Amino acid sequence: MPGGIIHAAHGKTMGTTWSLKYVAVKSMDEALVTAGVERRLAKVIDQMSTWQASSNLSRFNAAPAGSRHVLPPEFFRVLQCALQVAEQSGGAFDPGAGALVNAWGFGPTNRYDEAGFEAPSPDAVEKARAAGGWQRVELDEASRTALQRGGVHLDFSAIAKGFAVDHVAAYLRGLGIADSLVEIGGELRGAGIKPDGQPWWVALEQPPTRDSDASDRQSLSVHHDAKTRPPQSENASALTETVVALHELSVATSGDYRRFHMQGGTRRSHTIDPRTGLPIDASLASVTVLHRDCMLADAWSTALGVLGAERGLEVARERDLPALFVTRTATGFMERMSEPMQALLA
Ligand code: AMP
Ligand code: MG
Repeated sequence: MPGGIIHAAHGKTMGTTWSLKYVAVKSMDEALVTAGVERRLAKVIDQMSTWQASSNLSRFNAAPAGSRHVLPPEFFRVLQCALQVAEQSGGAFDPGAGALVNAWGFGPTNRYDEAGFEAPSPDAVEKARAAGGWQRVELDEASRTALQRGGVHLDFSAIAKGFAVDHVAAYLRGLGIADSLVEIGGELRGAGIKPDGQPWWVALEQPPTRDSDASDRQSLSVHHDAKTRPPQSENASALTETVVALHELSVATSGDYRRFHMQGGTRRSHTIDPRTGLPIDASLASVTVLHRDCMLADAWSTALGVLGAERGLEVARERDLPALFVTRTATGFMERMSEPMQALLA
């Protein structure tokens, strides 16, 4: 907007951080904007958190078999989108995989990083797999209800952050703020432009060279200049920085370097393949997806991670999804991009 300046705000939500930049007049009431953003984030948590026993999602999970539940509009939208991605990814993405996530120590209790945690036995894995599954969730759009068939354990951790980013961006638009960059835990959505006429340039998240770097990594750095890079780096031991302009565009990264545990020398990812019930192959370090909607970028980055680099690249091509895969090799990291991603960076 002409004559506007960049305002910034940040805080904590969903076990991670949020940050925001937006363009508005100098006298803009920042406290009002921040309070509005915090209300929106609280709403997402109240509806969709697995960590809060009182959330709509937790209550759905605890509900008896055969019960039907009226869902709040936001919860319904996220579940609808999640079921769509589940179907389109052949079940690689599964919002009903909560029991498996919990069994592997990545849910709210029985944490992998707590004393006494043990990886589940094959029997326990099979039980958790059989209990859940997106195909056992039934939605009715007209009544905005979902049927709990019994034992289905929803987990929106792979999509809710992206939805929350979209939700905050929509709130800002409603305030008349057309230019903004919203970020939650590394998932971003950019709208409009900065006062200097440039779009919001962001560097794509990259896995750290050493795992010990993961905790103090800055997930977001905003750049002001375009950079060029080769489209493919087949033997990269050091990763090239990739920057993209988020002009009405979102980016999300699913990586195993923030949360994972080692078991007998094996790296266990927090992403589970619902088809086998096992954590995904440790050779995939991260998948980054760009989409207009952050909810879809978030869901698809997880989905493509489960599919793995080979199949994931095919699906990304078929669905016209810009995607960047980073795999670990004996000589270092290797980056591969879908054609839509190459086109976007060209
Ligand atoms: P993300 O970081 O967006 O890839 O989300 C990972 C989180 O989503 C995990 O910590 C689990 O809570 C959950 N999750 C794990 N595997 C799946 C899956 N196959 N589909 C959907 N959610 C999953
Ligand atoms: Mg995700």
